[in-house]
Amino acid sequence: MNSEIYSIQEIAGLIGEQSVLVHPNQTIHTILTDSRKVSDVSYSIFFVLKGRKDAHQFIPALYKAGVRAFVCYQKDYPIKDFPEANFIYVADTLNALQQLAAHHRSKFNYPVIGITGSNGKTIVKEWLFQLLAPDYHVVRSPKSYNSQIGVPLAIWQMDKQFDFGVFEAGLSLPHEMAKLQNIIKPDIGILTNIGSPHDEGFKNRTEKIKEKFELFREVKLLICNQEYVSFRAPQVNVFTWSFTQDADLRIKNQTLVDQYTLLTCSYQQEDFNIKIPFTDKASIENAITCLATLLALKVSIPVISARLEKLHQVKMRLELKSGINQTSIIDDSYNSDVSSLEIALDFLNQQNQHPVKTLILSDIQQSGLKGEVLYNKVAKLLKSKNINKLIAIGPQLSNFKNFFSTNSQFFLDTDAFLKQYNLDDFNNEAILLKGARQFEFEKISKILAQKVHETILEINLNALEQNLNYYKSKLQPGVKLMAMVKAFAYGSGSYEIANLLQYNKVDYLAVAYADEGIALRQAGITLPIMVMSPEVSSFEAIVKYNLEPEIFSFTALSSLHQYLKTLHKTQYPIHLKLDTGMHRLGFEEKDLAAIRTFLLNNDTVKVKTVFSHLAASEATQHDDYTKSQIQKFDAFCQDLEAEIGYTFIKHICNTSAIRRWPKAQFDMVRLGIGLYGIDNLSKDDASLYQVATLKTTVSQIKELKKGDTIGYGRVGLMEQDGKIATVKIGYADGYPRALGKGVGSMFINNQEVFTIGNICMDMCMLDITGKDVKEGDEVIIFDSQPLLYKIAGQLQTIPYEVLTNISQRVKRVYYYE
Ligand SMILES: *Cc1c(COP(=O)(O)O)cnc(C)c1O
Repeated sequence: MNSEIYSIQEIAGLIGEQSVLVHPNQTIHTILTDSRKVSDVSYSIFFVLKGRKDAHQFIPALYKAGVRAFVCYQKDYPIKDFPEANFIYVADTLNALQQLAAHHRSKFNYPVIGITGSNGKTIVKEWLFQLLAPDYHVVRSPKSYNSQIGVPLAIWQMDKQFDFGVFEAGLSLPHEMAKLQNIIKPDIGILTNIGSPHDEGFKNRTEKIKEKFELFREVKLLICNQEYVSFRAPQVNVFTWSFTQDADLRIKNQTLVDQYTLLTCSYQQEDFNIKIPFTDKASIENAITCLATLLALKVSIPVISARLEKLHQVKMRLELKSGINQTSIIDDSYNSDVSSLEIALDFLNQQNQHPVKTLILSDIQQSGLKGEVLYNKVAKLLKSKNINKLIAIGPQLSNFKNFFSTNSQFFLDTDAFLKQYNLDDFNNEAILLKGARQFEFEKISKILAQKVHETILEINLNALEQNLNYYKSKLQPGVKLMAMVKAFAYGSGSYEIANLLQYNKVDYLAVAYADEGIALRQAGITLPIMVMSPEVSSFEAIVKYNLEPEIFSFTALSSLHQYLKTLHKTQYPIHLKLDTGMHRLGFEEKDLAAIRTFLLNNDTVKVKTVFSHLAASEATQHDDYTKSQIQKFDAFCQDLEAEIGYTFIKHICNTSAIRRWPKAQFDMVRLGIGLYGIDNLSKDDASLYQVATLKTTVSQIKELKKGDTIGYGRVGLMEQDGKIATVKIGYADGYPRALGKGVGSMFINNQEVFTIGNICMDMCMLDITGKDVKEGDEVIIFDSQPLLYKIAGQLQTIPYEVLTNISQRVKRVYYYE
């Protein structure tokens, strides 16, 4: 949303190849590209972008929601069905979006910084925002909006109320940067650093660096490490920094002082010290990049020094946890501003498990906007995102009370809220906490979120989404996707994961038992759900909750049939399971005739899908067997389809078959472990992201003497004087006893430490002799595919079992960046 006025006619003139404008004077403020994230409907324009699914299919729902302007690429789209909407046609909608953004950019001549690099772009952007906020009204990219779609949306926020812009640009494929340069048109360029991400699309590192430098083609000034200077175009002025070589800013020394790093710098023959509140290598480099930028912008050293010392860590995470009184708490500690509020609200809207959606919001600081404009925007946003209840904290929000709906309460500060509000008034709701730093919302979160026992399983929802998209990209056109969320989504959670999958529009979910399906329905999941082990006693619940049973035997088929007859139900969806060689559950070839007879004579059920399961899809040595399973399945389906006279969805691929047996994808695939970042094809698969991290903290450290024994049965023995750490994870949490006595290991501050003695029910001990470990330090049990495989190996099992064994008392904390 920006406050520049465009009419649809003007936009059509800028980008349109052909248009049908029924309301040529419609005003447009907002660009939409994601049908799930809709706001400001009557002033928005939806770009139908090309993707795996034809996004034209979203037009009817958007029209119904009130969207009245569309840019689409299908020439013969039936616009007659949408008589009140304006339509613009272009062959390439992404290009049109970029063109519109480039035009918008050209209206402003305040300075714009463009940042690229492999790592640190978002941090440097956020820090520059913090550092420049006292002097400028800064507009910046929301979170990491740095892609071919993200950059135009970021630029669209430019507005005459601002007087400085900071935008980031990212790359995943060659030749993308020139397009981003043309949109951002930076006056000043910043290169953070060059690491390994996204190497796959590029021939080599040099090619990748050259591509990044496309962003700096027309800048007046470039800020980068001295080592990259030779890549710039000759006319570009540079401001360089270096640890080792001559440069405009030379970092001569760095020393650690408490939680700070003291940099000794030299600039224009003058030496000075700068203190930064970080000690890790990446933060130090990012802070130096900011320091160089401020020097180049001629900010004085004392001012820079004062501001850098106060920099704070940028947390980009949204955390989802269980709260008191059956609430879910979403904790967003990212800087507070309107665009990140919008992102957080969309996340809140993904989670449907509670009837009420509540926002606890503080004043928004450093927005660069006048209070009136800002809170008007916020109020509109809350309305369009259907927030039921607002708790507003801060004097500015209180000033603009009248903008907000009646179901809002206002408090001057956080303490006043905590004192005056009865926390028992929160009940069965999803609560988003979004506060500027100064308001210390951590106090609220501490009280609302359930106490998390020290051991947690952290679930990275972005990683899950990326894995999903990765497998989607491996599907043949038109193939549907069923996501397997049995056994608490392989240990990762239940409705939290299902809500994310629903939001990402998978076609089906599958669970093992009816009660898992019921829990999902109660949490607002409306997707079709297949139940793989429906017991006869659960048919009533299955029908009541609109779940779809897998039928694998005549016994099950006839009891379901009898039950449906008593309800006078017909055409109830079922899923027929065939046994083609797994030899677990399922009908066999010899049953075909009887199934056909049954289906022809009864209309209580309707076959929605027919499926089978591969016994060894990942293993080359069994490829002939897999081939025969696929052939049997295909033949059976063809016969059955011909005989019953209607078609059904056919599916046989599990995770590893999706890539190994693409021809066997039929109409749908069943994606299980791959969603969670594991594929049996490889123990370290760079295409997949680890979803789950199991971690705990050091509860106590003990100094022991040679000969001392540790734990039950005195099995652990100190072979020399040393130290042990006790951590609160034991076999009841899913850390098996077999990992005791030095078999298992964990990581503390990147050091591997081994178990000592027996694993107890709730705890175990680690030998930390000679290691740098303090009480309270974080302990990682696994956070990567290789570690998970290693543990599985030690237990002589597979990652599936390690994941699903993590007990439910280990709290799951979800995060989204
Ligand atoms: C669990 C399961 C899957 C998923 O298998 P992955 O190897 O985890 O992808 C597929 N189909 C059936 C019938 C299953 O039970």
